Amino acid sequence: MRVIDFGEASCRRIRDYLDSYLSGELLVETNLEVQRHLQSCPACCQEFREAAEIRRSLRDAARREQTPAGLQARIHAGIRRDRKSRRRLLVGMSIAASVLVAISVGWIATIRISGHAPHELMAQEMYISSLPEFVGAVTFLGFADHLHCGVYWKILQHDIHDAEILDELGTELAPLAGIFREELPDDYEIRLAHRCKYRGRTYIHFVARREDDKLVSLVLTERVDGESFRVTDGLLPVSEVLGAEIFGSSIVGYHLAGFEAGRYVGFVVSDLSGDGNLALAQAIVPEVRAFMSGVEG
Ligand SMILES: [Zn+2]
Ligand SMILES: [Zn+2]
Repeated sequence: MRVIDFGEASCRRIRDYLDSYLSGELLVETNLEVQRHLQSCPACCQEFREAAEIRRSLRDAARREQTPAGLQARIHAGIRRDRKSRRRLLVGMSIAASVLVAISVGWIATIRISGHAPHELMAQEMYISSLPEFVGAVTFLGFADHLHCGVYWKILQHDIHDAEILDELGTELAPLAGIFREELPDDYEIRLAHRCKYRGRTYIHFVARREDDKLVSLVLTERVDGESFRVTDGLLPVSEVLGAEIFGSSIVGYHLAGFEAGRYVGFVVSDLSGDGNLALAQAIVPEVRAFMSGVEG
């Protein structure tokens, strides 16, 4: 990971931008500046996540509530008057007010589908696009799919049933869910099991959630042109379990353990500690590799 020395002044500067960043209002260069800083500064990254979380809860509330038109107009005027303190205003705003925030810019339809407003999706996509500056091309795939499906899209409402898993993955791959579940500690539940397509790659993807909301993804994708952690990304294994080499990578807030399984590369990605993530991977990887060696694809 590239680490740049950021002084207090530059943290303040970035924090002033966060609101506009989340609103997709910044120029491309400034956007990149914010992303680079967030990559290297855990404190600002935390601030960023809290700001994003506030927006998310307001939007969730917006889906449940309606609000009188007059109130919308007053609040909207208030937002316009004081853009800089908008976040504070949003925090203090009533649930009803958030409806306006969404409606006033016409995002409701998109929000219903994805749970995210377009400007936020754009900011997230730009964030994902910036990752190859910090991690290798293969490693990137694991982070990208975890962030895209697990963290940003949050399609994780309920514990998923075996019938749905079978439906999503088919008879050949469905048993992977059982393997994943078996190797996870008891306080995890599988919340997502699907095949997803993201940025031109197809993934087999599981997300499990722990009681404290930590998310762990198991991601698999077919290797293209002999992709490997050693050669493509220049990594050396951080661990070896039963003949399976495990490679490690981190970005701010997330850790990844990568492995190769025949025609596939696989990833265990989470917001656990590096050690916690590696421990999960050490439990999961040997079983997954053994299983994938029998998969025709
Ligand atoms: Zn900072
Ligand atoms: Zn996915």
